[in-house]
Amino acid sequence: MDDPRVFLTDNALLDIEELWIQKRRLESCAQCEFLRNGTTCGQSGMLVSYRAGLLDAKCPHPAETKW
Ligand code: SF4
Repeated sequence: MDDPRVFLTDNALLDIEELWIQKRRLESCAQCEFLRNGTTCGQSGMLVSYRAGLLDAKCPHPAETKW
């Protein structure tokens, strides 16, 4: 029982991977100078918690995309 993920379904594994991607993105946003009120991207105007969960979305940072 080295890897507990083997007991999850493929969909559950995918969900965990998506959550992990969102978490990493939100960590980048938390360090970003464009984050407003801890919730909103100053470049896109969107809630980062929402946008970071959209797998096809890209960070709109004007100098260098963060994710
Ligand atoms: S510019 Fe990118 S890293 Fe910065 S708050 Fe917006 S989405 Fe997050």
